[in-house]
Amino acid sequence: MLKPQEERRLQAGHLWIFSNEVNVAATPLTAFTPGEHVQVRSSHDRFLGYAYVNPRTLISGRLLGRDPDYPPGKSLLVHRFKVALAMRERLYPAPFYRLAFGEADLLPGLVVDRYGSVLVAQIGTAGMEAMKGEILDALVKVIDPTAVLWKNDSSIRELEGLERYVETALGQVPDMVEVPEGGVVFRVPLAAGQKTGWYFDQAGNRALLARHAAGQRVLDVFSYAGSFGLQAARAGAAEVTCVDSSASALEAAAETAAANELEVELLKGDAFDMLEALHADRRRFDLVVIDPPAFIKRKKDHPKGLAAYRRLNQLAMQMLDRDGLLLSCSCSYHLGPGELTDSVQRAARHLGRFAQLIGVGAQAPDHPVHPAIEETRYLRAFLFRVVDSC
Ligand code: SAH
Repeated sequence: MLKPQEERRLQAGHLWIFSNEVNVAATPLTAFTPGEHVQVRSSHDRFLGYAYVNPRTLISGRLLGRDPDYPPGKSLLVHRFKVALAMRERLYPAPFYRLAFGEADLLPGLVVDRYGSVLVAQIGTAGMEAMKGEILDALVKVIDPTAVLWKNDSSIRELEGLERYVETALGQVPDMVEVPEGGVVFRVPLAAGQKTGWYFDQAGNRALLARHAAGQRVLDVFSYAGSFGLQAARAGAAEVTCVDSSASALEAAAETAAANELEVELLKGDAFDMLEALHADRRRFDLVVIDPPAFIKRKKDHPKGLAAYRRLNQLAMQMLDRDGLLLSCSCSYHLGPGELTDSVQRAARHLGRFAQLIGVGAQAPDHPVHPAIEETRYLRAFLFRVVDSC
């Protein structure tokens, strides 16, 4: 049961219940086991929805459904997956996308990526972990996959008191799959890859970059498997350089380049150091993309993270030749969009240059935004033209 007035946010569409909103005298949180399913009731004892609870976390409950006739279980999950699938099938020409994006698909704590007939799922909360069997059953019913992998290895699971593991749920999960995007067939490692294997969220921004790539010298920093760089190469870039600290990511990029007959220079190392080294070598580029990992995972990381974004944008801009383009990305929800554009602006001033914002990118539609949950709007991508000041 909630305290008086605390149902308002849920009624406005949000899915989270914070521990201080619960009437713990009537319903002590400690009486619940992590992941337990409950009915959420207002202070007037009105049914608000079904949720799962974790007494260990600040977000002590997440709403699974508001219809009293559909308690959490396989049939609710089947319904959710069908609704999610309908949008992806409408928008995507081939079955390669994020099928379920947590809260924004009304499936709090669950992510499912689709690689043709293979699914890779990630559970982030105890409440979803408790429904693991039903999630698999529902996916089998809606998608009929040949293989499913649980990639339950994210560090956020520790906050929920969950172990981290990678486990085959169904069939034979291949080590590598092929993902077609932007005219390139990418070789993508699943179990050994990052996240679920592929960053589907950046697909639109990769297309944005490719549109400007013909004839250009392109630098793809934090390239992972060469996703931006190789699409730029396919679009006719004069030369492409990818930088990443992960040897296996660059190996995948090399395989993709060979299989697609594309040329790319692959540099392994810390991005900050590599950018300094390239600058010292007097290398110049016309198009630079920076797509770092989240430097601000939690609010308390903000000051340090912001400093890292500022430094990175300056190092990247330094590499740009006259009239070059910088695509500056961040997947840190806690970095406001204005803070990222401000970082670029400061970098420009520091270098005595002038930056113009000429394009704004977003997370791809298979990562929808839940308008009541700001945290689901996390990806920022800004395309700047950088000219010499006069
Ligand atoms: N641009 C990619 C996604 C990048 S994810 C895409 O669109 O698919 C972030 C990448 O940064 C990862 O591949 C990770 O290996 C790499 N990385 C993390 N820290 C790094 C560092 N300090 N220097 C270089 N690369 C780093």
